[in-house]
Amino acid sequence: MERKDIIVIGGGAAALSFSVMAGSSRRVTVLERGARVGKKLLATGNGRCNLTGVGICAEDYNIPERVGGFLKRFPPEAAVRFFNSLGLETRVIGGRVYPYSECASSVSDALIAAAADVGAEFLTRREVREVRRTEDGFVVSVAVLGERGEEKGRESYLARNVVLATGSYATTGKDSLALFAALGHRVRPFAPSLTPLVTDRASVKGLNGVRVKCVASLGGIRAEGEILFRDYGLSGIAALDLSALVARGKVRAGEEISLDLAPERTEEELAEHFEKFSYYPASRALKGMFHSRLAERIEERAGARADARTLARVIKRYTLTLSGTADASAAQVMSGGLAMAQFDDDLCSRQVPGAYAIGEALDVDGICGGANLQWAWMSAFAAAQALKKGKMLLHDRAGTAPYSCLA
Ligand SMILES: Cc1cc2nc3c(=O)[nH]c(=O)nc-3n(C[C@H](O)[C@H](O)[C@H](O)COP(=O)(O)OP(=O)(O)OC[C@H]3O[C@@H](n4cnc5c(N)ncnc54)[C@H](O)[C@@H]3O)c2cc1C
Repeated sequence: MERKDIIVIGGGAAALSFSVMAGSSRRVTVLERGARVGKKLLATGNGRCNLTGVGICAEDYNIPERVGGFLKRFPPEAAVRFFNSLGLETRVIGGRVYPYSECASSVSDALIAAAADVGAEFLTRREVREVRRTEDGFVVSVAVLGERGEEKGRESYLARNVVLATGSYATTGKDSLALFAALGHRVRPFAPSLTPLVTDRASVKGLNGVRVKCVASLGGIRAEGEILFRDYGLSGIAALDLSALVARGKVRAGEEISLDLAPERTEEELAEHFEKFSYYPASRALKGMFHSRLAERIEERAGARADARTLARVIKRYTLTLSGTADASAAQVMSGGLAMAQFDDDLCSRQVPGAYAIGEALDVDGICGGANLQWAWMSAFAAAQALKKGKMLLHDRAGTAPYSCLA
């Protein structure tokens, strides 16, 4: 059995940044199921990779009380400095940070090159099937996959530390949390987040493809940004952000979604506006403000010969009924994962000393705007710092680690 120092399971954003941050003091081997590492990164931010955001705060995540400490240690500015130090220039567009090239491949290329510089090893088409704790360390059992994903052989490694970085099955992929569940970790089942909202069909009928800048409210939470009407419900940033509430079990099907279709105007201002044009049919004034199909729906809701006040009220409160969310194939992240309570502030397992988890595999999910990649970087930073400082040796001295080979 080949011996390795640190094995990282999964080769996504968290694993790549971890490999760089761990530096050359510890040898990192990344085992990735796919044909290449960093594949999901290429799809982020519509191919532009929104790698972090100005002003990301703990409240942007499902468990602010835990995420706050990680943000303090590695805030968005540190993420920008980290990427700049790899030679990657960045630009800020509307508070979101992108690579200067606005090409996601620039981010993965920079990480892969820097990881190679510090001697990280990437083994692709390696699917980890089992992680076992033994007296001598972690035995990692791997299936070697062929081009069509067929199993071609088996390998086993003995590692001093393992880092689970298997992400989630948002968009594509497979759930590998079972690898750590088998070691005694609790898992909150994954639910699709940052995904379109499914609503009653009547409220969106005929509106497929219409976009509007609005404020959307659900369960007392407001989300500002674009809404894109679909024939099954709502997409766009504001809808995606609200889907996190559904994923986290904070709201349920049947609740009301309310759209303020003209957030920069008060109801009174709108009523005055329509009053001024009351000699026109309402449809004409509405079409002067909204996409013609949306204008028709507003007029329909307000009723025949609606007065200016009623039109204003419908515009400020265009309501729909929530049915649920789209499935994982449309989601940017999954809410759920390994319970954070079982990991310390270095993301070292309290159950199994020497085992770490980073990125989306943990039960941390954020809203749109770079919060999820920011979590990948800051969780990688926490684990890398601990492993660089030889945290396992401290565990050994405390007598909590059962291995003999670690000192
Ligand atoms: C379409 C899309 C757009 C997005 N855009 C943004 C954005 O602009 N900004 C932002 O902040 N976030 C964005 N996200 C979310 C962000 O991409 C994820 O939060 C982030 O990639 C998570 O990183 P990770 O390394 O934890 O997991 P992943 O990137 O999911 O990587 C996990 C890796 O582990 C591998 N793996 C899994 N199981 C095994 C196994 N058993 N053995 C070996 N390998 C295994 C997988 O093949 C995968 O390569 C987007 C997501 C999607 C899907």
